[in-house]
Amino acid sequence: MQQTLSIIKPDAIEKNVIGKILARFEENGLKIIAAKMLHLTEEKAKKFYMVHKEKPFYMDLVKFMTSGPVLVLALQGKEAVKKCREIMGATNFKDAKEGTIRKDFASSIERNAVHGSDSLENAKIEVSFFFNNNEIFPR
Ligand code: ADP
Ligand code: MG
Repeated sequence: MQQTLSIIKPDAIEKNVIGKILARFEENGLKIIAAKMLHLTEEKAKKFYMVHKEKPFYMDLVKFMTSGPVLVLALQGKEAVKKCREIMGATNFKDAKEGTIRKDFASSIERNAVHGSDSLENAKIEVSFFFNNNEIFPR
């Protein structure tokens, strides 16, 4: 069993598709073991995306991620890190497979509806970035 972090981004919250996205995770064998809605501060968004600080899209990404509330999730399941990424689809929704969250709900390479941790190591870091142990309910 693994745990991974996902974020429903401000564009998807604005589109009112939280429930549809949660259902994709559940229907594909992942359990929601932690969830909270919050509005990221600039400081927290910059820190979360620090790996991208040299990329040309970094400041736009921070602006987008702080433009409205997000729903932060911890997901649990077999191969959860990889499975979550499969359910999400490719970063660029134009490359995303049919039936993936990004194919159905993204509107640009930036406004791509969801985040998912990219490795088990980062999943651990990212889950603890947002959740205390007493806010996570593995089962
Ligand atoms: P992923 O979210 O699929 O792991 P990355 O970690 O490479 O993708 O990028 C983080 C986020 O930055 C993406 O989800 C997307 O919102 C944004 N992003 C990535 N590449 C670009 C780009 N070329 N132009 C604008 N925004 C981008
Ligand atoms: Mg990434």
